[in-house]
Amino acid sequence: MAVNETERLSAVTPEQRRLSVLGATGSVGSSTVDLVRRNPERFDVVALTANRRGAELAELARELRPEIAVVADPDAYDSLKQGLSGTGIEAAAGPGALVDAARAQADLTIAGIVGAAGLDATLAAIGQGGSVALANKECLVCAGELVLEACARAGTILLPLDSEHNAIFQVFESENADDVEKLVLTASGGPFRTWTREQMASATPDQAVAHPNWDMGRKISVDSATMMNKGLELIEAAYLFLVAPRDIEILVHPQSVVHSMVAYRDGSVLAQMGPPDMRVPIAHALAWPARMPSPVERLDLARIGTLTFEAPDVERFPAIALARSALEAGNGATAVLNAANEVAVARFLDGTVGFLDIAALVERTLEQVVAGPVSSLDDFRELDAHARAVTESLVKSGS
Ligand code: NAD
Ligand code: MG
Repeated sequence: MAVNETERLSAVTPEQRRLSVLGATGSVGSSTVDLVRRNPERFDVVALTANRRGAELAELARELRPEIAVVADPDAYDSLKQGLSGTGIEAAAGPGALVDAARAQADLTIAGIVGAAGLDATLAAIGQGGSVALANKECLVCAGELVLEACARAGTILLPLDSEHNAIFQVFESENADDVEKLVLTASGGPFRTWTREQMASATPDQAVAHPNWDMGRKISVDSATMMNKGLELIEAAYLFLVAPRDIEILVHPQSVVHSMVAYRDGSVLAQMGPPDMRVPIAHALAWPARMPSPVERLDLARIGTLTFEAPDVERFPAIALARSALEAGNGATAVLNAANEVAVARFLDGTVGFLDIAALVERTLEQVVAGPVSSLDDFRELDAHARAVTESLVKSGS
């Protein structure tokens, strides 16, 4: 993601930014909405989308006045339409309408849908040429090459929203990219950082989603508990910054103050710090390359006192190694990893499988599915559907 000086300057728009928010009712979406609400003069909202929560989306739309509001699930259309009556805001529903809304011209789109379900809309937003702030990391894990190709075709700048990648972006000297020795992704370690495998075996969904530092959606919270989230982020970083997997290190940092680091060949290590609040990276992307105010609690290092770091325990958290080997295997292996993980996390959350089964199911699926190259969206869809079916059958057979 080489952002050169010309792009940087042409992206400076002091006037209102046309902004779309995909996944406006989610955790990333709500943090975005909070910043827009506090800085209304900066944004002209184009499209807001959600999955099923029609009434909630209508309420948001009444406040933020987008041109269009879309729910992915057609069953939610009536509640959306009803909530918008008399406003003049267009209501639409279904996957096609979601993609059309994402394609509407915007200066910046927040890609905040969770999972591979966000890929088509994110690609549509990329295709319209405005910048895309990417929270929906699964897009890069599933189809990293296709996403980067789409950015290159449309001249779209991809701004990282994930806190670690946003941190790296803030301290990554793109003009000195050859001098980068490694990226260091920090990880909180999640709620089970100090748990034994025996304890994890009986972990409940409620325990897994109770993250010590971050308040997030359920899927990413479980990913943090298995540390698959850090595995997905390793893949995300490799695509965003074009750094070889062996040069991306993972470091557990339970306080979540240092959000990630870049080490240069002169021995310098640049880090970005901040409170664990997504409104920091989101405000960075919303205003980039300028800065805007954000109401987050200020970092009080004297009160925090101590920052600690430790190597991740890959025995207790095998998901990290699975993601690294999928990335190194290339082709569609990371798409298989993602599909298996999405199915396994859903089955854990609905009580069908145990916590340790999540990584085990991903591993078994990776063994059973031959991942060919993903050179088109059709390739991806076929592989994704196949991998999901394999994981579901492993769940059913209890193996
Ligand atoms: P969430 O579950 O809170 O919200 C997801 C949003 O996507 C909701 O608006 C939902 O309506 C929408 N959505 C869900 N399924 C959909 C579908 N099939 N079609 C269309 N829309 C759908 O999730 P979140 O925690 O906000 O995470 C969103 C993305 O951001 C994920 O990829 C996650 O990994 C990433 N992320 C989140 C955080 C965080 O703090 N929450 C931090 C970093 C990265
Ligand atoms: Mg993150």
